[in-house]
Amino acid sequence: RARKRFGQHFLHDPGIIDRLVRTVAPMAGQKLVEIGPGRGALTYPLLEQVAHLDVVELDRDLIHLLREAVPEERLTVHQADALRFDFRPLAGDLKLRVVGNLPYNISTPLIFHLLEQAEVISDMTFMLQKEVVDRLTAAPGTSDYGRLSVMVQYHCQADYLFFVPPGAFQPPPKVDSAVVRLTPHATAPWPARDPVYLGKLVNQAFTQRRKAVRNALKTLVEPDIFDALGIDPGLRPDHLSVADYVALANATG
Ligand code: SAM
Repeated sequence: RARKRFGQHFLHDPGIIDRLVRTVAPMAGQKLVEIGPGRGALTYPLLEQVAHLDVVELDRDLIHLLREAVPEERLTVHQADALRFDFRPLAGDLKLRVVGNLPYNISTPLIFHLLEQAEVISDMTFMLQKEVVDRLTAAPGTSDYGRLSVMVQYHCQADYLFFVPPGAFQPPPKVDSAVVRLTPHATAPWPARDPVYLGKLVNQAFTQRRKAVRNALKTLVEPDIFDALGIDPGLRPDHLSVADYVALANATG
């Protein structure tokens, strides 16, 4: 039986599983890590492509099944909460390719946890709630663009890959799903001097997303700074690019 508190919705549509594995396109010798392997819907097809896989799973019963099914030389099962897991030691010389049909209730904090370790990650391919994928990949000026879009796109290229209907899972979730790829930037295109302050500024801007950015950021940014940076202070916060936010943070933090 699926456990609700672990966000368990197991993939059972062979076409979707195949498409996801082909999208990841694992190559022999790459370092793959799967988060939340569950009953192995993705794990077993991934193991056909690579000699060894690391997986991080919280549910003891499922861990037991995986350990019984596959020898340790091929599958290392880390019994851990992915939200607290240190992925760095798995990387070695090669960066990690991270894959997962994530528990939707923890997907946002999990992405932020992984972004803190982005230096050891080459890419991440995730099944998520479609609404979250829309926000991760949103462009300025669209209704989905917000704090999550800016902070994730500060660290990564975010690409929407494909839609997945509820019927692909057992039990079916109440929401639509989609697959996203997050590729951490090798070098930051717009380096922030203080990423924590950038987060604070972006947060403040989007708590008042209907105001002009000049008003939304009144307590952090002097009006003449907008002119100096060539940013229209009358724009709403959802019309500023990631580069604009970094420029504002670097000029004020
Ligand atoms: N990959 C499987 C599939 O596609 O059928 C299962 C996906 S299911 C949506 C999410 C999986 O993540 C479950 O196996 C669940 O037990 C596991 N999980 C939930 N919370 C977790 C956490 N904090 N850390 C690691 N795994 C977790």
